[in-house]
Amino acid sequence: MRIDLHTHSTASDGTDTPAQLVRKAAAAGLDVVALTDHDTTRGHAEAVAALPEGLTLVTGAELSCRLDGVSMHMLAYLFDPEEPALLAERELVRDDRVPRARAMVAKLNELGVPVTWEQVARIAGDGSVGRPHVATALVELGVVPTVNDAFTQDWLADGGRAHVEKHETDPFEALRLIKGAGGVAVFAHPAAAKRGRTVPEAAVADLAAAGLDGIEVDHMDHDAETRARLRGTAKELGLLVTGSSDYHGSRKTCVLGEYTTDPEVYGEITRRAFGAFPVPGAGGV
Ligand code: AMP
Ligand code: FE
Ligand code: FE
Ligand code: ZN
Repeated sequence: MRIDLHTHSTASDGTDTPAQLVRKAAAAGLDVVALTDHDTTRGHAEAVAALPEGLTLVTGAELSCRLDGVSMHMLAYLFDPEEPALLAERELVRDDRVPRARAMVAKLNELGVPVTWEQVARIAGDGSVGRPHVATALVELGVVPTVNDAFTQDWLADGGRAHVEKHETDPFEALRLIKGAGGVAVFAHPAAAKRGRTVPEAAVADLAAAGLDGIEVDHMDHDAETRARLRGTAKELGLLVTGSSDYHGSRKTCVLGEYTTDPEVYGEITRRAFGAFPVPGAGGV
């Protein structure tokens, strides 16, 4: 069984529509794929409707959090998408992305870059708008050669000249909300240092004590040494270990199924979920 528990579609900052994504997941030989767009579940219905035979969809979202001034991402799986408290928080974060993206456009204008909100809005479409969309605009304008090159201190990296913070949830509150909605919580790429500051590992113990289910260990932003260390942390704290591609279509270099999750861990995630259950392809819904 090949299981990829972290992907993005055009519902946030990926470049494949949810339907394209599930088709590509099946073509890549995956048995299970999770759709985890930033702060939204909007892509799920389309993914379910297009789900190919033999592929199972795990519904999820990647929630933007901040602990002691450090941004971090919490993957939430199989929660009830209608549960009001978690829904309200997702909407708060997602809606705040719009004025925040506009503020980044204003900062870029001050830096002499002729980017417009209309351009960024066109790139984002109806997806929850984020820095990768602004970065794509910078590529279109020839300011930087690739999306990745926009994530520097000169431009959009955390603390960079054109970076603006967005509303982000306290991760302990996120855990309460995810649990309250029947979901399972996994700390995404906890040691992805190239993205900026990461939360200290001591905080992982506090999160574990507060109900965190697992940590994403096998991820492109973790080198071999980091993975080995994180596996040790997980073992010590009794946390599940996941692996996933964090696929974003053509906006990132990773491919679907590049990293995968052990079937036993996937089984445990489904056992712990009370809000919703994985959707099997063809006729399951
Ligand atoms: P935002 O949620 O708008 O703050 O944007 C964060 C998103 O930007 C992440 O989910 C990644 O998709 C992307 N990102 C963050 N750091 C980098 C980086 N160094 N290179 C490329 N993309 C990045
Ligand atoms: Fe992203
Ligand atoms: Fe992330
Ligand atoms: Zn992600």
